Amino acid sequence: SDGPNSGYGASSKVQDITQRKGLMTYKQFILALEDDVSPAEAESRYHEYKTAYITTQKHAYFDLHKGDTRLKEKYHPTSLLSVIERRNEFCKAAAKSLILDLRSGTLDLGPGMTADGSSKSGNVNYGSSGNGEDYGNKRRKNGRGPPKEPGPLSTAPKAHPVSSKYRRVQADIDQTLALVRKLDTEKGIVGNILSIGGDHGKPDDDRSHVGSAGPLVIIRGLTTVKGLEGVELLDTLLTYLWRVHGVDYYGMSERRNANGFRHVRADNKIADGFNISAADWEKKLDSFWHERLVNGDDPLVVLTAKDKIDAATVEALAPYVKKIMDENYGYKYGCGAMGCAKVFHAPEFVHKHLKLKHPDLVSVLTLNVQDDIY
Ligand SMILES: [Zn+2]
Repeated sequence: SDGPNSGYGASSKVQDITQRKGLMTYKQFILALEDDVSPAEAESRYHEYKTAYITTQKHAYFDLHKGDTRLKEKYHPTSLLSVIERRNEFCKAAAKSLILDLRSGTLDLGPGMTADGSSKSGNVNYGSSGNGEDYGNKRRKNGRGPPKEPGPLSTAPKAHPVSSKYRRVQADIDQTLALVRKLDTEKGIVGNILSIGGDHGKPDDDRSHVGSAGPLVIIRGLTTVKGLEGVELLDTLLTYLWRVHGVDYYGMSERRNANGFRHVRADNKIADGFNISAADWEKKLDSFWHERLVNGDDPLVVLTAKDKIDAATVEALAPYVKKIMDENYGYKYGCGAMGCAKVFHAPEFVHKHLKLKHPDLVSVLTLNVQDDIY
C-alpha cells in the first residue's frame, strides 16, 4: 500500500496534477480529495503523496544523471584522460611514500597492499578526487584492518618453489627492475632510486663492485647508507611493483585496483601443490613479462583508446543507420549503404551488418576514426 496508485480515490487525479504542475501544496491536495475524507486521513494521505512524489522525482533525476555520467566516463576524451591522470597521481604518491619508508628503514616487505595502515595513515596525500573512482580510498580502506593472524605470509598465494632458487632470484631481479623502469615511465614517475641505482648498463654506478653477483642498490637515508641486493632487493622490487603499480609479479597479473596479497616465493617444502613443472612455470612467467616489457602498453591507456575507437566508430557509422518508424514494430533500423534494403531491430545489428557486408565502406570510415584519434 505505497505509491500513488494504491487504491485511494484521489490517487490517479493526484498523479495527473503532479506530473503537470509539480508538488501540490496541502491546500491544493485537499481540494482534489473526496468530500468525506477526515482531516486526519487527509493529512496522512498528503504525507504519502508527498513521499511518493519525491521518490519519483529522485528516481527520474537519478536515471537521467546516471546515464549522463556513465556515458561521459566511457566516451568523453577529457574524462578518460582524467581517469588516467588520477591513476598516475595515485601511483606517484604511493611511490613517494614507499621510497620514503625505504630510506627511513621502515619499509615492510609483506605481501599486502599496505604494510601497516596505522603507521602510514596520514603520510600520503592521495589527492582530493571526490569524483569517480578513487584509487586512494580503496587502498586506504585496505590498510585499515590488515589481518594480523594468521600472518600474511602464510595466507598469501605462493609462487612455484623454483622461484626461491638462486639463479631464478637473479633473473627475477633483472626482470622486475626492467618492469619498474617501464611502468614508472608510463606513469610519469621519475628519479626512482630503486631503478637508477640498479642500472646494469651504467659502468659508473654503485653496484660495479668487484665480486658482486647481481645488482646492488644503494639506499641513502638521513643517517644511514644501506646496500640492497639478492633476495632483499628482489622483495623490495616486488613490493614496489605491487603497491605502486598493482603488479603481482609471480601471479602474472597487472591490475588497476589491486588489493589483497601478491604471490610470494614458496618454501621448497611445499613443492607438491603445483601441477606444472618448474621449467614450464618459468617459461610462463618469463614470456608473460617479456611480452609486457617488449610489446605491452599501459592497460588503462589501451582500454581508453579502445573505448575511444569504439565510440568514434559508432559515431562514424551513424549516418549509415536509417531509423525507420514501423506501424507494427515501433522503430526499425535500416542499412544506409547504397542500394541495400536490409532492416534490423537495433542499431548494433546494422553496425554488425555493415562490417560484414560492406567492409570497404566501413574500413574507410574507421580509418578516418583512427586518424582522428591518433
Ligand atoms: Zn547493407
